[in-house]
Amino acid sequence: MLHPRIADISATRHILKTFNLRASKRLGQNFLIDAGVVQAIVNAAEISEGDEVLEIGPGIGTLTQGLLEAGAKVTAVELDKKLPAVLAETLAGYENFKLVQGDILKVDLTELMPPNFKVVANLPYYITTQILLTLLEKKLPITKIVTMVQREVAERMTAAPGSKIYGAMSVAVQFRADVKVAFDVPPEKFLPRPEVTSSVVICDVRESPLKISDEEFFIKVVRAAFGQRRKTLLNSLIGAGFNREKISAALGVAEISADRRAETLSIAEFARLAENLSVEA
Ligand code: SAM
Repeated sequence: MLHPRIADISATRHILKTFNLRASKRLGQNFLIDAGVVQAIVNAAEISEGDEVLEIGPGIGTLTQGLLEAGAKVTAVELDKKLPAVLAETLAGYENFKLVQGDILKVDLTELMPPNFKVVANLPYYITTQILLTLLEKKLPITKIVTMVQREVAERMTAAPGSKIYGAMSVAVQFRADVKVAFDVPPEKFLPRPEVTSSVVICDVRESPLKISDEEFFIKVVRAAFGQRRKTLLNSLIGAGFNREKISAALGVAEISADRRAETLSIAEFARLAENLSVEA
């Protein structure tokens, strides 16, 4: 069956008009209209025949079509109740497509996906960070995440210690994955156009090489440390409710000076601090 290409401005306009739809700002709907960008995302995800892929927010099926054409088995989770009827038509005839109507933050992915799956998505920007952190913190059997995000989020995800934008997000992502920016995508590649430039980010998920016995506590310490960026580590942690003596002792054992700021700590140093603080707690 020959399918008309969805990643095209006239096709997208035609689909929206046929189904009497308007892109919803509230749901972060910015549809891709460029086949080259879709193909570049599929290439970045290194899709081979039979790969299990979770797509978040398929919209009208633009990226989904690229993934299916490359041979992926796609399970897509879409929140918008109006879109299943659209997808039933735009992706009619593709066999390896399954749609779940629901909220990606509420769906039980362990039940939905088999082991070793990839995540590919043009994410809704209003909850990008929340989605990425949920995927990584839940320790799901994901091998790779390839996502379109705002460029500013991509910069935070890949920031190194010492940089002004290095923060809890950088640590939480880099602790679980090797992260790199694949390429930027300008606003005119979407309908409607977003206000910002976007970037496609590749996260190769791996076991952390660092010894962390309680990851939830580790993330709590990282968030607390970055809670008040201009304060020293000691004062930020006190401000977040940790006990002064216990922090001082933990910093001493971890060989981290109390007057450093969170943005100067490497992930290994955060891990040492959390380990010693949990012993002290
Ligand atoms: N994949 C399509 C594309 O590339 O053209 C659409 C991408 S659009 C930026 C984001 C999609 O995510 C929309 O279809 C939106 O309805 C959907 N969405 C928004 N919030 C969601 C949520 N919490 N769970 C699942 N899908 C969501």
